Amino acid sequence: MRSEQIEWESPMYRLAVSQLDQTAVRMGLDENIWERLRSPQRAHVVSFPFRRDDYDTVETVVGYRVQHLLTMGPTKGGVRYDLDVDLGQVTALAIWMTWKCAIMGLPFGGAKGGVRINPRELSATELQRITRRYTAEIIEVIGPDRDIPAPDLGTNEQVMSWIMDTYSQQKGFSVPGVVTGKPIEIGGSQGRREATGRGVISCAIEACRERGIRLEDVSLAVQGYGQVGSTAARIASHLGTRVVAISDVSGGVFNEKGLDLDAVDTWLGLHGSLAGFGGGDAVTNTELLTLPCDVLVPAAIQNQITEDNADQLRCQILVEGANGPTSLEADAILTGRGIAVVPDILANAGGVTVSYFEWVQGLQKLFWTEEEVNDRLITLMQRAYRDVSELARREGVGLRTAALMRGIGRVAEAKRRRGIFP
Ligand code: GLU
Repeated sequence: MRSEQIEWESPMYRLAVSQLDQTAVRMGLDENIWERLRSPQRAHVVSFPFRRDDYDTVETVVGYRVQHLLTMGPTKGGVRYDLDVDLGQVTALAIWMTWKCAIMGLPFGGAKGGVRINPRELSATELQRITRRYTAEIIEVIGPDRDIPAPDLGTNEQVMSWIMDTYSQQKGFSVPGVVTGKPIEIGGSQGRREATGRGVISCAIEACRERGIRLEDVSLAVQGYGQVGSTAARIASHLGTRVVAISDVSGGVFNEKGLDLDAVDTWLGLHGSLAGFGGGDAVTNTELLTLPCDVLVPAAIQNQITEDNADQLRCQILVEGANGPTSLEADAILTGRGIAVVPDILANAGGVTVSYFEWVQGLQKLFWTEEEVNDRLITLMQRAYRDVSELARREGVGLRTAALMRGIGRVAEAKRRRGIFP
């Protein structure tokens, strides 16, 4: 490449760019477009104060909003609250959003935002003040036609409500379309909360179908029992799949015969975490990954499957619910071992797909039933999975490479059509 980019340096950025570089070589991608795609078009770095609940302490925190690609329409992507947030990480996540939207055929480029805080240590009032101030800091770069935030790690519907309210207060009228993943009461979509988990399971179903595996015969392990993981486990269990392991930040639980998810939810309602749940053997989050199972869904955080444990995984199919759970080295090991990897940019695209539905419903002021949303989501997920799988077969590559080829290919073609200004 002609110029080195040092601004975004971080392990996740290196992963996202290595994936792009490897795929670009394979596709024979035009070098001018290739280089353009390696860095975001816009990156906003802000630091701002927020008042702790004691009223005397004021802390300064750092926040980001990165817009990778403005070619396809407004930019789209979540906002995460996490201590690991840095510019490179948010940039990598924005790059993945670009591919994700292109694979699904959504009219968005990729974006991501984040604030470097530990949301678990903060009260609801502190989170509200941080969210409102962060929104004020990035208000010029977001908007329904500009860039549309959504929930991600550490954020939820409530955070989206505060962003929407802050933005609307500044504009002087309600602007529901500035975020997706909102509560239904203020213009959210039916089915958005479950959408990512539902999409993950749609991919697992397709991958099993291709291999002639019946869902009733499948054992499933899910790392991370948050919004994505718990929905995936629930839907799979309704379809007759045995959920043998789940985990949260406190650790996990394994039961070869299948976990009783009702009992899990009751326990979580009472205790707030899986620690002490007696419905199986206690395992760590690392141990969960190497348990015997047919389908493994990492739905927690990035960088979980690395060269240190990739040769110990015992699943047949890995469906990435989280963003960036598998390192480049691990990916090669898994492919070599014949484990099918349904990559994040396809497997977890259900979230942004229903975000797109939410945005469209908001623009039209015409709302769909939950059944309509779910049917349309499943149709789009199946179409995208089959398209990527067919491309993988034709090109003799894994699903990740095929998904990247599809995403990058569509974006490159759009860039070529639009040309360069001036
Ligand atoms: N944060 C989610 C993701 O990583 C959803 C983004 C959205 O709905 O815009 O795909």
